[in-house]
Amino acid sequence: MNVRKMLTVAEVLHSANQHSEDQPQRTCIGCRKKASRSELLRLVAEGSGSTAVLVDERRRMAGRGAWLHPSETCLALAVKRRAFGRALNGATGATAVERWILAGKQAAGPLQKSSVTAAKTVQPESGSEN
Ligand SMILES: [Zn+2]
Repeated sequence: MNVRKMLTVAEVLHSANQHSEDQPQRTCIGCRKKASRSELLRLVAEGSGSTAVLVDERRRMAGRGAWLHPSETCLALAVKRRAFGRALNGATGATAVERWILAGKQAAGPLQKSSVTAAKTVQPESGSEN
């Protein structure tokens, strides 16, 4: 009897874990591939007459967002196909994004972005509402 109960608890825990890994997918405006939010950089338009695109490091700025892999390749692709303007209501000034990606590269070398983002990110929302 007890065994049965414990199994049930284990099953519940297991499915809860699986659920938390089920992140929403976003499409990179550069390569157009889907990835989870944590793998992508969130970009927002600065707004109020400006055409600047800003990097939303904490992924919580208001407004329309676009998503991009933090890589020069995807940035170049996005610039080439004018994806910024389309995704961000005409905001095309990607200088800040460029600088962000290049700075990250210099700081971390040709390593994977995970170490960079882990150091910079201040723990995003831990959404556990039920
Ligand atoms: Zn990409």
